[in-house]
Amino acid sequence: MGIFAKIAAGEIPSYKCAENDEFYAFLDINPLVKGHTLVIPRREVDYIFDMEDDELARFEVFAKKVAVAIKAAFPCVKVGQAVLGLEVPHAHIHLIPMQSEKDMNFANPKLGLPAEEMQEIADKIYQEFSK
Ligand code: 5GP
Repeated sequence: MGIFAKIAAGEIPSYKCAENDEFYAFLDINPLVKGHTLVIPRREVDYIFDMEDDELARFEVFAKKVAVAIKAAFPCVKVGQAVLGLEVPHAHIHLIPMQSEKDMNFANPKLGLPAEEMQEIADKIYQEFSK
């Protein structure tokens, strides 16, 4: 099993932001901004555009709910969405609360946040998602 499938299965710890039977959301370990979240299918699939139409549609609807929760927890202009997948071969959507387009630049230095703060951020998003 790959690292993200293990995270979704709870075999590797993560800062959980949201979940359902099929999908899981957790904080990116090297966030560009506070609230930078990854959304993944629990099942292992590398390339997002290899997903069947129905699954991809459900994935995006789940990501939308997570984005709404992120925006409520971390007021921003909009939540940006990006798909790269160059590092980890398990489909994932980056959700990033943006104040400006600069926040979507993956070449920016990453925030090194203490574990306590990461937990607080994830809990805030999880609470909003659960409302
Ligand atoms: P990508 O595959 O989209 O190019 O980049 C993978 C993203 O996953 C990066 O932003 C990286 O910080 C994040 N990442 C890689 N390994 C882990 C991990 O073990 N835990 C978490 N929470 N994030 C990870």
